[in-house]
Amino acid sequence: MHSVQYLEYNPEKHLLWIADELYYPEKHDVGDIGYCIQCGNELRTLSFHIIGSHYGIVAKCTSCNRLLLSIYDSDWNWCKEMELVSTNRVPSIRIGASELSGLSGYNLLESIPENALKTIFSPREIEAMFSKAKGEKYVRQYLYNARKKYARFAEIFGIFIDI
Ligand SMILES: [Zn+2]
Repeated sequence: MHSVQYLEYNPEKHLLWIADELYYPEKHDVGDIGYCIQCGNELRTLSFHIIGSHYGIVAKCTSCNRLLLSIYDSDWNWCKEMELVSTNRVPSIRIGASELSGLSGYNLLESIPENALKTIFSPREIEAMFSKAKGEKYVRQYLYNARKKYARFAEIFGIFIDI
Protein backbone atom coordinates (compact mmCIF):
# COMPACT_ATOMS: atom_id res chain seq x y z
CA MET A 1 0.00 0.00 0.00
CA HIS A 2 1.35 3.39 -0.95
CA SER A 3 0.29 6.28 1.19
CA VAL A 4 1.86 9.72 1.18
CA GLN A 5 1.69 12.05 4.16
CA TYR A 6 2.76 15.63 3.66
CA LEU A 7 3.69 16.60 7.20
CA GLU A 8 5.79 13.79 8.54
CA TYR A 9 8.31 13.49 11.33
CA ASN A 10 10.76 10.79 12.26
CA PRO A 11 11.03 11.17 16.07
CA GLU A 12 14.01 8.86 16.31
CA LYS A 13 16.18 10.68 13.77
CA HIS A 14 14.57 14.13 14.13
CA LEU A 15 13.79 14.36 10.43
CA LEU A 16 10.98 16.62 9.25
CA TRP A 17 9.24 16.32 5.89
CA ILE A 18 6.94 18.99 4.49
CA ALA A 19 5.42 18.03 1.14
CA ASP A 20 8.28 15.57 0.62
CA GLU A 21 10.98 18.16 1.26
CA LEU A 22 13.32 16.99 3.97
CA TYR A 23 14.39 19.38 6.74
CA TYR A 24 17.26 18.19 8.88
CA PRO A 25 17.38 19.25 12.54
CA GLU A 26 19.60 22.22 13.40
CA LYS A 27 19.85 21.08 16.98
CA HIS A 28 17.90 18.71 19.18
CA ASP A 29 17.34 20.59 22.42
CA VAL A 30 15.72 24.01 22.37
CA GLY A 31 13.94 24.06 25.74
CA ASP A 32 10.24 23.83 26.37
CA ILE A 33 7.74 25.82 24.36
CA GLY A 34 4.55 25.60 26.38
CA TYR A 35 1.47 23.51 26.67
CA CYS A 36 -0.67 21.30 24.48
CA ILE A 37 -3.74 23.18 23.27
CA GLN A 38 -5.65 19.89 23.15
CA CYS A 39 -5.08 18.48 26.64
CA GLY A 40 -3.23 21.26 28.50
CA ASN A 41 -0.20 19.19 29.42
CA GLU A 42 3.43 20.10 28.86
CA LEU A 43 5.06 19.91 25.45
CA ARG A 44 8.53 18.50 25.11
CA THR A 45 10.60 19.94 22.27
CA LEU A 46 12.28 17.44 19.97
CA SER A 47 14.05 19.49 17.33
CA PHE A 48 14.52 22.83 15.65
CA HIS A 49 14.43 23.31 11.86
CA ILE A 50 15.01 26.17 9.45
CA ILE A 51 12.18 26.21 6.90
CA GLY A 52 12.93 28.80 4.25
CA SER A 53 12.89 32.12 6.11
CA HIS A 54 10.87 30.59 8.94
CA TYR A 55 11.78 28.54 11.97
CA GLY A 56 10.04 25.34 12.97
CA ILE A 57 10.00 23.66 16.34
CA VAL A 58 8.79 20.11 16.65
CA ALA A 59 7.30 19.18 20.00
CA LYS A 60 5.51 16.21 21.46
CA CYS A 61 2.82 16.36 24.13
CA THR A 62 3.93 14.51 27.25
CA SER A 63 0.36 13.32 27.81
CA CYS A 64 -1.60 12.81 24.58
CA ASN A 65 1.54 12.19 22.48
CA ARG A 66 0.51 14.54 19.68
CA LEU A 67 3.42 15.56 17.46
CA LEU A 68 3.28 19.24 16.60
CA LEU A 69 5.17 21.57 14.32
CA SER A 70 5.11 25.22 15.40
CA ILE A 71 6.13 27.69 12.72
CA TYR A 72 7.72 31.04 13.63
CA ASP A 73 8.89 33.89 11.43
CA SER A 74 12.50 35.11 11.44
CA ASP A 75 11.72 37.42 14.40
CA TRP A 76 10.31 34.47 16.34
CA ASN A 77 6.71 35.61 16.06
CA TRP A 78 4.47 32.56 16.19
CA CYS A 79 2.73 31.89 12.86
CA LYS A 80 0.96 28.58 13.03
CA GLU A 81 0.84 25.10 14.47
CA MET A 82 0.45 21.93 12.44
CA GLU A 83 0.00 18.30 13.39
CA LEU A 84 2.71 15.90 12.29
CA VAL A 85 2.36 12.26 11.36
CA SER A 86 4.94 10.04 12.99
CA THR A 87 7.05 8.08 10.52
CA ASN A 88 10.17 5.95 10.45
CA ARG A 89 11.02 7.30 7.03
CA VAL A 90 14.62 8.08 6.16
CA PRO A 91 15.92 9.94 3.09
CA SER A 92 15.57 8.07 -0.20
CA ILE A 93 14.44 9.34 -3.58
CA ARG A 94 13.05 12.83 -3.23
CA ILE A 95 9.81 13.63 -4.94
CA GLY A 96 7.67 16.71 -4.60
CA ALA A 97 8.93 20.23 -5.15
CA SER A 98 11.70 19.25 -7.56
CA GLU A 99 9.30 17.13 -9.58
CA LEU A 100 6.88 20.06 -9.90
CA SER A 101 9.51 22.56 -11.01
CA GLY A 102 8.67 22.36 -14.73
CA LEU A 103 4.95 22.80 -14.21
CA SER A 104 2.87 25.97 -14.14
CA GLY A 105 -0.73 27.15 -13.99
CA TYR A 106 -3.38 24.48 -13.66
CA ASN A 107 -0.93 21.60 -14.16
CA LEU A 108 1.12 22.81 -11.22
CA LEU A 109 -1.86 23.45 -8.97
CA GLU A 110 -3.34 20.05 -9.73
CA SER A 111 -0.04 18.34 -8.84
CA ILE A 112 0.31 19.95 -5.43
CA PRO A 113 -0.84 17.64 -2.65
CA GLU A 114 -4.19 18.78 -1.28
CA ASN A 115 -2.87 18.56 2.29
CA ALA A 116 -0.16 21.06 1.44
CA LEU A 117 -2.67 23.52 -0.04
CA LYS A 118 -4.93 23.14 2.97
CA THR A 119 -2.21 24.08 5.45
CA ILE A 120 -2.02 27.60 3.93
CA PHE A 121 -5.23 28.28 1.99
CA SER A 122 -8.88 28.16 3.03
CA PRO A 123 -11.25 25.90 1.06
CA ARG A 124 -12.77 28.94 -0.69
CA GLU A 125 -9.34 30.26 -1.66
CA ILE A 126 -8.42 26.85 -3.08
CA GLU A 127 -11.69 26.78 -5.01
CA ALA A 128 -11.00 30.25 -6.44
CA MET A 129 -7.46 29.25 -7.47
CA PHE A 130 -8.71 26.15 -9.31
CA SER A 131 -11.54 28.07 -11.02
CA LYS A 132 -9.18 30.82 -12.16
CA ALA A 133 -6.64 28.25 -13.40
CA LYS A 134 -9.35 26.49 -15.43
CA GLY A 135 -10.64 29.75 -16.87
CA GLU A 136 -13.91 29.49 -15.01
CA LYS A 137 -15.76 32.07 -12.92
CA TYR A 138 -14.19 32.74 -9.54
CA VAL A 139 -14.65 35.04 -6.56
CA ARG A 140 -12.06 37.79 -6.94
CA GLN A 141 -11.75 38.44 -3.22
CA TYR A 142 -10.79 34.83 -2.49
CA LEU A 143 -8.19 34.74 -5.24
CA TYR A 144 -6.84 38.07 -3.98
CA ASN A 145 -6.53 36.61 -0.47
CA ALA A 146 -4.90 33.46 -1.81
CA ARG A 147 -2.34 35.43 -3.84
CA LYS A 148 -1.18 37.22 -0.71
CA LYS A 149 -0.20 33.80 0.65
CA TYR A 150 1.77 32.53 -2.39
CA ALA A 151 5.09 33.76 -0.97
CA ARG A 152 4.41 32.07 2.35
CA PHE A 153 3.42 28.87 0.59
CA ALA A 154 6.67 29.00 -1.40
CA GLU A 155 8.70 29.55 1.76
CA ILE A 156 7.20 26.57 3.49
CA PHE A 157 6.77 24.14 0.60
CA GLY A 158 9.29 25.36 -1.98
CA ILE A 159 6.62 25.67 -4.67
CA PHE A 160 5.65 29.02 -6.19
CA ILE A 161 2.05 29.05 -7.42
CA ASP A 162 1.52 31.27 -10.47
CA ILE A 163 -2.24 31.61 -10.76
ZN1 LIG B 1 -1.75 16.88 24.64
